[in-house]
Amino acid sequence: MATANGASKDVKNLDIVVIGAGMGGLACALSLAKQGFTRISVYETASNLGFVGAGIQLAPNLARILDRLGVWADIFKEAVEIRETSIREGADEHELAHVDLSDIEAKYGYPHSVGHRSSLAGQLFEGCKGEKAITFHFSTGAEEIKRWSSPPSFTAVPRNAEPYTVEADIILAADGIKSAVRTSMLKEINCDAQITDSKTAAYRIMLHRHQLEHDPELLELIDSNRVTRWIGEKRHIIAYPVSSKQIYNISSAQPDANFAEAPSVTYTTKGSKEAMLDVFHDFSPKVLRMLDLVPEGEVCEWRLRIHAPLPTWVHGEVALVGDACHPTLPHLNQGAAQAVEDAAVLGVCLAKLPSTKPEDIYKALRVYEKVRMDRAYLLVDMATQSGRALHLGEGTAKEERDKAFREAKERGGKLPDRWADADVQKMIFGTDIWKKAEDEFDELFGAVS
Ligand SMILES: Cc1cc2nc3c(=O)[nH]c(=O)nc-3n(C[C@H](O)[C@H](O)[C@H](O)COP(=O)(O)OP(=O)(O)OC[C@H]3O[C@@H](n4cnc5c(N)ncnc54)[C@H](O)[C@@H]3O)c2cc1C
Repeated sequence: MATANGASKDVKNLDIVVIGAGMGGLACALSLAKQGFTRISVYETASNLGFVGAGIQLAPNLARILDRLGVWADIFKEAVEIRETSIREGADEHELAHVDLSDIEAKYGYPHSVGHRSSLAGQLFEGCKGEKAITFHFSTGAEEIKRWSSPPSFTAVPRNAEPYTVEADIILAADGIKSAVRTSMLKEINCDAQITDSKTAAYRIMLHRHQLEHDPELLELIDSNRVTRWIGEKRHIIAYPVSSKQIYNISSAQPDANFAEAPSVTYTTKGSKEAMLDVFHDFSPKVLRMLDLVPEGEVCEWRLRIHAPLPTWVHGEVALVGDACHPTLPHLNQGAAQAVEDAAVLGVCLAKLPSTKPEDIYKALRVYEKVRMDRAYLLVDMATQSGRALHLGEGTAKEERDKAFREAKERGGKLPDRWADADVQKMIFGTDIWKKAEDEFDELFGAVS
């Protein structure tokens, strides 16, 4: 058994377990180490980080935290700065909106960039490896939370050895959208919040520069500093260059046909190129030429699911983090950013603990929930609404949406693609959640029970 809770321990020597080494888990471990915690253990089912080949948007609210964690400079080296976005009709390339993003850095301190997921996760991992305080246990899944408090404990299941019990002072469950800890927490508190099937899936494709070089129109896309969205009824494609413009990243959203057959089994699978081309058959020749470049066997398909909002993220000295408590549709490009915001706030709240008593730990975790929950669920909701607006078919609602796009283009009104809207960006990019947690901790700690 690992160490039990002891009231005499210094706060920074608390034993903290992080379950899951995804974006949220890695950021939690690093954030805690940077706050001076000395005993952080990360348990991960996979044998290594197994990076999925896909792009990710690195919004200023994410970059700000990564910078404070000391990993932004290396991520930014390979990233591409986005200076504009173009939203187009998929069928005929008619531009519905064009937004200049070149002033984002001046407004929010960091440019809006895009990068490779492996660059973000890899640099977070490198940052963790540089911290003596962090120990990784790969190939070891967390199976069952045995106790929630005084001290919390769980069963660790190594791939090739006997299961054993781990006790800690604090357990942070960053075990992703299929979180087993969330399931047992909800059971424990008699709540039946369910996974909501969005009935949509996403193709994720990466084209290498040499694949585009023969086609001037496609070459222009990878050479740009632009996020392009092509929209159509019930579907869209979003694409941008990553990895110093050596890779063009394409992601889509469309009705789910594949996964509906196999509920809950898996969230990613090999997609069929033929099925993908069929889904977008009425999009422009340029889009179809681009999709046709994907080699057979390299279409990756993700299931897109969300979860009904939870009444709480904390039970005893156990807290949920990232997709475990606020999985989102990707239409606002904030899933990983929000997991990293959780990590930053947890670092602040736990560092401000006045004692190592379980009741104080519980209160500090509730402060984390208070700082994060409303914002996270607002963004989940906005992403869902944005997807709905982007996927409208012919009819009055679409006419109104296109009028809003036109007005926004001509006079700068509210954009139906919420990610590109200046007011939404101000709320998302302009919030320094780390500072907010620092500023509000004392008052909130005094108010929670
Ligand atoms: C199509 C698509 C596009 C996206 N685009 C963006 C974007 O542009 N920008 C953005 O910010 N976000 C984006 N996201 C969202 C983002 O990928 C997720 O929100 C983010 O990865 C969540 O991080 P997490 O750490 O909570 O979960 P995950 O990254 O899923 O990590 C969970 C980890 O826990 C491990 N694990 C699970 N169970 C256990 C267990 N029992 N014991 C031990 N380990 C366990 C898993 O192996 C995994 O490593 C996108 C998502 C999708 C589907």
